Amino acid sequence: MEQQPAVIRVGDLDFPARKVWMRTYGCQMNYHDSERILSHLGKLNFTATDKQEDADLVLFNTCAVRDLANLKFYSHLGETSHIKKDVVIAAGGCIAQTEGKDLVKKYKQLDFAFGTDVIDNIGEMVYRAYAGDRKFSVTTWDRSEDYSIETKITHGTPQAFVNIIKGCDKFCSYCIVPFTRGREKSRRLEEVVKDVQRLVEFSGIQEVTLLGQNVNSYGKDNGESLAQLLGELQKINGLELIRYTTSHPYDVSDELVDAHAKLNKLANHLHLPVQSGSNTVLQRMLREYTSEHYLQLVAKMRAANPEMVITTDIIAGFPNETEEEHQDTIKLLKAARFDFIYAYTYSPRKGTKSARMTDVLTDEIRSRRLQEIMDLQEDIQKEVRQQMEGKTYRVLVIEKGSYKGQTKWNGRTSCNRLVHFTPSEGDVTDYLWHWVDVEITSTTAFSCQAKFVRDHGKKRTHA
Ligand code: SF4
Repeated sequence: MEQQPAVIRVGDLDFPARKVWMRTYGCQMNYHDSERILSHLGKLNFTATDKQEDADLVLFNTCAVRDLANLKFYSHLGETSHIKKDVVIAAGGCIAQTEGKDLVKKYKQLDFAFGTDVIDNIGEMVYRAYAGDRKFSVTTWDRSEDYSIETKITHGTPQAFVNIIKGCDKFCSYCIVPFTRGREKSRRLEEVVKDVQRLVEFSGIQEVTLLGQNVNSYGKDNGESLAQLLGELQKINGLELIRYTTSHPYDVSDELVDAHAKLNKLANHLHLPVQSGSNTVLQRMLREYTSEHYLQLVAKMRAANPEMVITTDIIAGFPNETEEEHQDTIKLLKAARFDFIYAYTYSPRKGTKSARMTDVLTDEIRSRRLQEIMDLQEDIQKEVRQQMEGKTYRVLVIEKGSYKGQTKWNGRTSCNRLVHFTPSEGDVTDYLWHWVDVEITSTTAFSCQAKFVRDHGKKRTHA
């Protein structure tokens, strides 16, 4: 957030300089929403602090998708019960969308809750709270046909998240997202292109990640498509790299596969959640594809672009998953040879179809299956990453670190692998946000060490 004046006046209230502490849980969409929230709060004279004890406003941006994120939120909220009364405490995000009223009732320290569709009204809600109106919940849906926003940047990095579609129409049987984020609505292609042009031109952004719960369904509601949008973004001068996440296998079109063959600014990475290798489990999950179809997509992507790296999500122990069904997932992992997987044991989400299924699996079985999946994947990952050794990759340096007293720079490849490299002896260049070439020298299942080859510089100065 920018430097704020000592006092600003909004309506009937003075807003002296105040501090906001915020904790975000869950997916990149949530992190991006938090950025929007902070940007709005900047207009009410708030600056961000990472010390909760210094904050005048404590905000939680919650996630209802994963059990762990859910539990963490409730535990962190519980810890705020001792916070002094003049501090405003609020919760937004997916849990607040579905349980806002109950949360405010149950937790005496919680002043208000706000849903996923009203984050652009956060200023009004904070204004209301400081005017003395507490204990309210705003979880209304935005009923307008259009989805129109402008991306807000509150940081000084050359990377930006850009929402292009919100909501989801898929209703997978285990997922709460369609109930917390509503139906799919895409931004107009022209608006997204102008937004990214503005980010590149005025905020020095070089890498964008296009976001959506089901991002490759983009444009279905208004006759446009993700492949079309990627083609237009490719033309923007100064934009170096385009990523997008998260995709649904049902919506991977031939045009999208083709885009990965043709567009050199498009990252060589596709995160394509498969969830299970068993067709009967996929049916119970209401995923609308088979494991055969999924593997065909993977093969098509790799044929179109041999550098393509595919990552996925797996749910271990979906209700009543048999040993045979679990083995189908093991087979799929061996066939697909993913670069990385996010694997979780199944946990029911209140209000979803799968939460109402009778289930014979125990936590022990689920954990054992998850472990088998992780062990196998670790072996696959080791082999997959070994193939990188001796090859040169272009990375955007994102962080300075150190190892045993020596400087290490961390960068990300186009295929989204984290790479650590040591500068040559005597080289004290500040490589942060430079594009550099590195040669991979050694790999493990989870890391890649590299040596510096050449510097392409910062490309552009950024804000
Ligand atoms: S496609 Fe993704 S966001 Fe949509 S319901 Fe299925 S799991 Fe949830």
